Amino acid sequence: MKNFRLCGNAFALSMLLGVPVFSQKPDFSVIAFYTTTVERDHVDFAHDAIKFFSELAPKNHLAFDTTSNWANLNEEFLRPYQVVVWLNEFPHTQEERRAFENYMNQGGAWLGFHVSGYNDKSTHWPWFVDFLGGAVFHSNNWPPLAAQLIVDNQKHPITRDLPATFRSPITEWYHWEPSPRLSKDIMVLVTMDPSNYPLGKKNFITGGDTPVVWTNTRYKMVYMNMGHGDKVMTDALQNKMFSNAILWLGGK
Ligand code: ZN
Repeated sequence: MKNFRLCGNAFALSMLLGVPVFSQKPDFSVIAFYTTTVERDHVDFAHDAIKFFSELAPKNHLAFDTTSNWANLNEEFLRPYQVVVWLNEFPHTQEERRAFENYMNQGGAWLGFHVSGYNDKSTHWPWFVDFLGGAVFHSNNWPPLAAQLIVDNQKHPITRDLPATFRSPITEWYHWEPSPRLSKDIMVLVTMDPSNYPLGKKNFITGGDTPVVWTNTRYKMVYMNMGHGDKVMTDALQNKMFSNAILWLGGK
């Protein structure tokens, strides 16, 4: 009897709110990896993004879990998850890296933000550089700044809700050499507008091609360069791109 009453209340609540009660198996499950021991601006972003995706999840019938233990990047832990998100870090051990490669090669999906895509001479992970379309970190702007962006592809499910250009909130931007656009496997979705150059006050992005959102068509993956500081999640349009990305990667 008690169960029946709870169920009835849940149904009434669902009618009242106009949203389904999250009682069945989710359509897909997301696991977001992050760390709290990196620079403050990267931790702030992770917390804001976790709040955003946690609120998005029940409205879209997906499960959103988080972990700050990167040793969880292993086959057994990943098994129930269809999408892996890296908010502010990337794996450093061989075991974690191999587990991720296998996960992606077996059809898993990935959304990476900002420093999760960082790589240079010191990171020693050629598979990951190839996964990003050959993009290697070259330079950044400092301090973090807003930037005008160009939407390269307004037909893609991730960017179809965006106008041809928009202003993205304050973040630190990375320029890549070579540009991932040079890879035949890469579809660039959003690029920094050259009108921003030179972007910076202390460190500058001086010019060239600076894609900021792209996908490698050989995988289910999206990289987004945004992710530095507590302003990134403040723009509704850009947030729509973030939610579109999760839903697209999850197959919705
Ligand atoms: Zn940063």
